[in-house]
Amino acid sequence: MASPKIAIVGAGLSGLSLSLFITRLLPAASVKIYEVRPSTHPYTSGTINLTPNALRVLDHLGIYKSLIPQGFNFDNLTLLNHQFDFLASIPIAGISEFEYQSLRIERRIVHSALLQKVQEQPQIEIVYDSKCEAVEESDTAVTITFTNGASVSADILIACDGIHSTVRKSFVKDPNDCDPKYMGQISIGGFITKSQIQEFNVNNNPYPLMMFGPETSTGANFMVWPYNQEGDKFTFFSTLSKPEEEKDWKLLYSENKQNLKKIMEETFVSEDSPWNEMVKKTIEFSAVDGYRFWPFYLHSMPEKLYSEKARVIMVGDAAHAMPPSGGQGAAMAFEDAETLAYSLAAAFTGEEGTNTLQTQEILSKWSDHRIARMKTMQEMNKRMSDMRKGSSGSTSGFMFTVKVWAIWLLGLLGVLGRTRRAINNYDAKKEAAVFLGEGVVARLTEE
Ligand SMILES: Cc1cc2nc3c(=O)[nH]c(=O)nc-3n(C[C@H](O)[C@H](O)[C@H](O)COP(=O)(O)OP(=O)(O)OC[C@H]3O[C@@H](n4cnc5c(N)ncnc54)[C@H](O)[C@@H]3O)c2cc1C
Repeated sequence: MASPKIAIVGAGLSGLSLSLFITRLLPAASVKIYEVRPSTHPYTSGTINLTPNALRVLDHLGIYKSLIPQGFNFDNLTLLNHQFDFLASIPIAGISEFEYQSLRIERRIVHSALLQKVQEQPQIEIVYDSKCEAVEESDTAVTITFTNGASVSADILIACDGIHSTVRKSFVKDPNDCDPKYMGQISIGGFITKSQIQEFNVNNNPYPLMMFGPETSTGANFMVWPYNQEGDKFTFFSTLSKPEEEKDWKLLYSENKQNLKKIMEETFVSEDSPWNEMVKKTIEFSAVDGYRFWPFYLHSMPEKLYSEKARVIMVGDAAHAMPPSGGQGAAMAFEDAETLAYSLAAAFTGEEGTNTLQTQEILSKWSDHRIARMKTMQEMNKRMSDMRKGSSGSTSGFMFTVKVWAIWLLGLLGVLGRTRRAINNYDAKKEAAVFLGEGVVARLTEE
């Protein structure tokens, strides 16, 4: 059995899940994760929705069941218009059809469940306070240099360093493909409790609620979503159009929470606002401190997700960050992690012994498979982003009427549900068996 030295840059959702799959499938491997943050860094960044394809991966890691009572489990998304008229109920998950419900949960809970598992694995070490600065690949090893002057070598390096990946820059050749592109939309959101707004849910519509309003220059959607098991703690958010990219989002947005609340008030609560009372009261009652902000960026898809010498590989947001409109970024990171671990295990335990040609061949199958999946996902994501767009300056209402009818019809025809099936039914282990061969996956998983 080969015992490769594997380095991972980034201890986020992709880095942690990948390290767990690698050490399970390749027990002789040693994995070191290098993370820029200190170990004491509080991992708090709002809530996340995990669909069945993401939960299946977490189930394979033995983490899913512990998450169920810590989040809001649901099957359908209720679509309404801005005046609270019912448009559709979209089945986005469900045990009978997809094996899992959907789960909205605080992101820190998922991260700490993964971290706890990692800490139980003696083959995995996390090295904190280590900011990767540069990467150099040779025929025999890859060398990673850190801003503190240290450097280390490994057989394989995997970029899990998120949307602003340093590792990506080291081997994506076209400079236009290095940095993510701003997509002209931002999201602003906060927190509220059920007791504060339930009386405004006039028909007791089941949560989560996704509301679409008339086309304006900025906002045309508003979401209210529970995130704990009892369903009494809510997050709310809206995607707003903002054509110009700011050089520094921090000053005006991330760090100016009063401004965030003001933008939401101007968009949804002004005197002539056509929005329903629930939306207005949600903003009115929300605490300024809870406001959060995200600009939307998209990475162009590289030709392949590994380097020439097959020693540097990209996964998660480093490889294919996309706007959160479809709620699939973390799901894609988890799918990448499980499928890549099968591929690396196949490469390092092949009958011909480990060699670069074999690794390249296997990584090429993995990379083609994941890029095809990402293209499908990005198309779906674009449709979701477009659905939430305001159209600059237009308040005519015509486009809005068309959109509302389209949503109603798509719901009626089950088209939105069918899209979900394509997303939710992905099973990373079964997919690996297709592109690597059933015999290979069976060999890697036999006790
Ligand atoms: C507003 C919003 C809502 C979202 N909602 C959803 C959702 O509902 N469902 C869903 O599936 N996805 C969602 N996503 C997407 C999801 O959050 C990301 O796709 C996911 O976190 C990507 O994980 P990652 O591990 O690849 O990157 P990250 O989570 O960004 O982790 C990267 C890690 O690398 C570290 N790092 C960075 N640079 C360096 C360096 N140079 N050296 C060392 N370490 C470094 C960072 O500190 C971090 O720990 C959402 C995203 C946003 C912005």
